Amino acid sequence: MSDTRRSVAEARSIVLEAVRRGAPRQVALEAAAGLVLAEAPVAPVDVPAHPNAGMDGYAVRAADVVAAGPGLPVRLPVAGVSPAGGGTPPALAPGTAMRIYTGGVVPAGADSVIRQEDTDRGAAMVTITATRDLGRNVRPAGGDVRAGEAPVPAGTVLTPARLGVLASLGVETVAVFPPPRVGILSTGDELAGPGEAALVRQGERLGDSNAVALVAAVRAAGGQPIRLGPVRDDPAALRSALVPHLPELDLLLTTGGVSVGDRDLVRGVLAELGAVEAFHRVRLRPGGPTVFGMLPGDLPWLGLPGNPVSTLVTFTLFALPALRRMLGRTPAVPPVVRVALAEPVAPDAVLELHLRATLAHREGEPAVAHLTGLQGSQVLTSMARADVLLRIPPGTAELAAGTLVEAVPVHGTE
Ligand code: AMP
Ligand code: MG
Repeated sequence: MSDTRRSVAEARSIVLEAVRRGAPRQVALEAAAGLVLAEAPVAPVDVPAHPNAGMDGYAVRAADVVAAGPGLPVRLPVAGVSPAGGGTPPALAPGTAMRIYTGGVVPAGADSVIRQEDTDRGAAMVTITATRDLGRNVRPAGGDVRAGEAPVPAGTVLTPARLGVLASLGVETVAVFPPPRVGILSTGDELAGPGEAALVRQGERLGDSNAVALVAAVRAAGGQPIRLGPVRDDPAALRSALVPHLPELDLLLTTGGVSVGDRDLVRGVLAELGAVEAFHRVRLRPGGPTVFGMLPGDLPWLGLPGNPVSTLVTFTLFALPALRRMLGRTPAVPPVVRVALAEPVAPDAVLELHLRATLAHREGEPAVAHLTGLQGSQVLTSMARADVLLRIPPGTAELAAGTLVEAVPVHGTE
């Protein structure tokens, strides 16, 4: 029988081809952190709009002060005060000074702000004793942004600094690609539902680690998680958990029930709901049984295997790039780093392995990757200790210690 399994790269391309960026939506600046800007606001004025003081002191004309020095002070009448927020003061007459505070508008005619430490801080008359600030401490209008410029380009992630720049332009709302709404449906008769943690503590049920981990993973990726499970291995229960929610979703993630056991009902139920599978099974460990399809209404569905490490590895390899594409983030696939193996690793002949590892950083050299211990797909603590997943392509020859391999940051640690 021929091997219909996809490579990880093929499977990921299929997923990325199938998902779309959302339509841009206006949101308040404060709700836009981490989202991608869809349209670049243009500065309506210079920022700062007026020349202003970079120091507390006195605005002067350099020509009036140039003779000052130790034992040779210059005395000028003080013609007014310009505090931050005080508006535009009258022009400075020759032979006068103006008291000014950081951010205060520098009056027309002044070209210097003498710091107050070089004066007697006089109110009616000021004595200036040094000339080091001549021609200095005036921040020019437009020194940060010029009117007509678009300092934050479309397509960029709204970091704190970029949001601050937009606020400095007077922007209140921005067009962004909205967070995808991601349904998270964990499946399995063995799982404790909400309010059933006592059964976990008594050893009778499993904690629904997939639902909790995926809610966090979706949120860390910039999506909006909507928890739909856990649901029992029962077709009617699966249908009724899904059907009311499908219209509100941009992506559906299910966990479990996609292997070939009698209790693996997820694919059958999704097929009844109209899902068309694009692939089932990937040449990958952990995470081989992953399935991807499209539901009616162009709703992409990723069926992740139920073992908790498989769930998180396949989230990282497939769902995270899909979410990044939906959010307009580039590149959709997060960058990898190259690291050196601390110990020899045997590849698999056909499967791409993703091994959990921590990194020890070295000055000027690739980091060294230490495996976090048992690599079984049910051993969630070894995932919890990991910084990265080491990508070990299929092969036959053992990789010696020191071999450089690609490392994918564990989502949420990067
Ligand atoms: P499945 O893919 O449904 O065959 O599940 C594979 C393994 O993962 C089984 O041992 C399940 O008990 C376990 N598992 C499935 N779903 C979850 C979940 N949501 N949380 C923790 N373990 C799970
Ligand atoms: Mg199951």
